[in-house]
Amino acid sequence: MLKSIAVMTSGGDSPGMNAAARAVVRTALYEGVEVWGINNGYHGLLEEDMFKMESKNVGDIIQRGGTFLGTARCKRWKTPEGRMMGYQHLVDRGIQGLCVIGGDGSLRGASLLSEETGLPIVGLPGTIDNDVWGSDYTIGCDTAANTIIDAINKLRDTASAHRRVIVLEVMGRNSGWLATVAGISGGAEYILIPEEKYDLDAICSDMKAAYDAGKRYILVVLAEGAGNAQEVGSFIAEKTGIDTRVSVLGHIQRGGSPTVIDRVRASQLGEQAALALISGLSDIVFGFSKGHVVTINLHDAVTNKKKLDPEYTHLAKVLF
Ligand code: ADP
Repeated sequence: MLKSIAVMTSGGDSPGMNAAARAVVRTALYEGVEVWGINNGYHGLLEEDMFKMESKNVGDIIQRGGTFLGTARCKRWKTPEGRMMGYQHLVDRGIQGLCVIGGDGSLRGASLLSEETGLPIVGLPGTIDNDVWGSDYTIGCDTAANTIIDAINKLRDTASAHRRVIVLEVMGRNSGWLATVAGISGGAEYILIPEEKYDLDAICSDMKAAYDAGKRYILVVLAEGAGNAQEVGSFIAEKTGIDTRVSVLGHIQRGGSPTVIDRVRASQLGEQAALALISGLSDIVFGFSKGHVVTINLHDAVTNKKKLDPEYTHLAKVLF
């Protein structure tokens, strides 16, 4: 049994990180275990920016996006010396295990720390991109998808009024998950993702034919990893002659009050992470598979590349 653990959020923020950290803290306290909060990810750990937490420290945060602990990107963590220093800062305070909530980069940094020092580590996948291997869910992906849907609904109104083509660029880094689920639920005509080659010439011919047959507007959802929205928009406008507008949603997708799904799932994951860490388990990531909490080997999670569920890409084609 560990007597003292710490929690941090790292890398890109995502809605639901607060719910996850809150669950880690309250579970640890419920189990009678000391729990520390580390501000600003690995950067904060190196700066010794951490504090012992009480239940009230995580009050009034479950409804907020972002992360109350703050997050950062930290170059020094990529060096063994940096990680050893971070380890020492934990040992100095009697902290025996660490829960890292972050994306694949953060989990990679956590995996190295465990490998090099033997410190027990449990990871939680926190990213809107839903790109962590072994889990079909990451904390924040549902809120981000809902934010995109909201934008799509609004863009549809104006696109229809003007008979335009709208190209909407969404986040996801190298993953097309956000674009695909938002495209399916937003009724997009085209979903362009990095996982699938697309032929813009052929798409333009289809668009023109559809317009000539009376279609009022066309919505294209473009994943950021699949091309540049301005370039795609200009190409479409030139090839089809249809009035085309480009919208890049940007960081709005990262924010906002988390959805019920993100709050509940993040809470479940936080509880499991704390219990596992306290019981001495290490090198695991908690995620979801088919609606249930599962454990994933940390090393596997950071060395494998997640693939997009082919059922989604198939559905997107059928519903087009
Ligand atoms: P995310 O966790 O959202 O994927 P990043 O990829 O930026 O975000 O990673 C966040 C932080 O995790 C980095 O700033 C760095 O401190 C650490 N990190 C990322 N990749 C590695 C790596 N290969 N080795 C060690 N630390 C890493």
